[in-house]
Amino acid sequence: MARTKKVGAAGRYGSRYGRSIRKKVLKVEIEKNKKVACPHCLNEKLHRVASGVWLCKKCGLKVAGKAYKPK
Ligand SMILES: [Zn+2]
Repeated sequence: MARTKKVGAAGRYGSRYGRSIRKKVLKVEIEKNKKVACPHCLNEKLHRVASGVWLCKKCGLKVAGKAYKPK
């Protein structure tokens, strides 16, 4: 994956979409991939399965959250 100094992992979009929107995407993606503890078993295993749906890989708990972050 192409990473750049300015926009990190969003560098995969190359020069497309413009710089400021790529920076916004990067912010959201960092938030999305952050490790968050499961409210049930407290392991940091919460993964986004769909917009607003988060699944704990440890205990299988499915929780509703925000679209790009669990809480
Ligand atoms: Zn859990």
